[in-house]
Amino acid sequence: MNFEKLITKHVQKLTPYQSARRIGGHGHNFLNANESPKSEGYFLNSSSLNRYPDCQPEELIERFADYCHVHKTQVMAARGSDEVIGLLVRTFCEQEKEGVLIAPPTYGMYSVAAETNNVLVAEAERNEDFSLTADLLIDGYNKAQFPVKVIFIDSPANPLGTCFPKDELIKLLKALPDTLVVLDEAYIEFAPKDNDLTYLVNEYENLVITRTLSKAFALAGIRCGFAIAHEQIIKAMLKVIDPYPICDPVAQIAVQALSNHGVQMTLDRATACNERREKLRADLEKLPFVKKIFPSDANFLLVEFADGPKVFNAMAQKGVILRSFETKKGLKNCVRITIGSDVELEEVMRYLSALEI
Ligand code: PMP
Repeated sequence: MNFEKLITKHVQKLTPYQSARRIGGHGHNFLNANESPKSEGYFLNSSSLNRYPDCQPEELIERFADYCHVHKTQVMAARGSDEVIGLLVRTFCEQEKEGVLIAPPTYGMYSVAAETNNVLVAEAERNEDFSLTADLLIDGYNKAQFPVKVIFIDSPANPLGTCFPKDELIKLLKALPDTLVVLDEAYIEFAPKDNDLTYLVNEYENLVITRTLSKAFALAGIRCGFAIAHEQIIKAMLKVIDPYPICDPVAQIAVQALSNHGVQMTLDRATACNERREKLRADLEKLPFVKKIFPSDANFLLVEFADGPKVFNAMAQKGVILRSFETKKGLKNCVRITIGSDVELEEVMRYLSALEI
């Protein structure tokens, strides 16, 4: 059989998302996927595993709506925010004719989700210092060669680390009322509280917020993320979602994580992570071959070294796996370091201090 011929043309051309797990690497200290360094304990009840789960488990949706102070009709749960990103593309963009707008460097799944679904991608410019404004996005929207249906903005941004300002978001929402503006808040629990903008979905019908339990909640392994948006947007995406996206054990664990106790633990975990981040920043600043450390409201630091590939490779040889952004727009010599445990970060500093560049 000619397998190549069997595969659709756009899939033949695809490069899948290079997730940390797909790239792999032999090591013992994985600081390349912005995961939490420690897993928590949960209870599991196996009495209903013979049954299909609800498409949108009620208790899960209610708890998450309470956590975000929105109504349950404004919430959808999915397999990580990655699935939400894909659903947004599939639900709102016409194949080959319409598409999405992104502002690189940004989270890689936005363009991969678009390409996988055969929709188009336009890029907006950032300022030289990597900051992003509503005007830059509006300019990107106007210059796109096709109708832009969805704009993806990560806030805090990955790998840049900082939040998109609220006044810029509102300006954008008002300027493009017929375009969906997606604010990806995967790292929001690490950011100062006033960056949490979920309440704005009550004021702006074109705003979608995505969230995840993968980062501050320390639950990347269960794949659970959310969309928060106007009820009609949620309803449209629920037409497209697979029949049983949330496995029963996933819902059980997520409900426990979203209890008052679980949320408090998450907020404490995020505070402790931020303290380790600032200690790492102070330690890195002392190294002569560190050129720049980007500001960060998230659980990672993006660092420009005098020789990024050398740092990345030397660390990998020691079994410390970081994430290189060498080939990404404007990020030559930049390496992202996830904020691991104290022990993991001490190991990073031990090896970096011994490096000669
Ligand atoms: N958005 C951003 C900005 C991310 O960095 C990531 C994960 N690296 C995701 C979304 C995906 O998270 P999830 O595990 O919920 O699919």
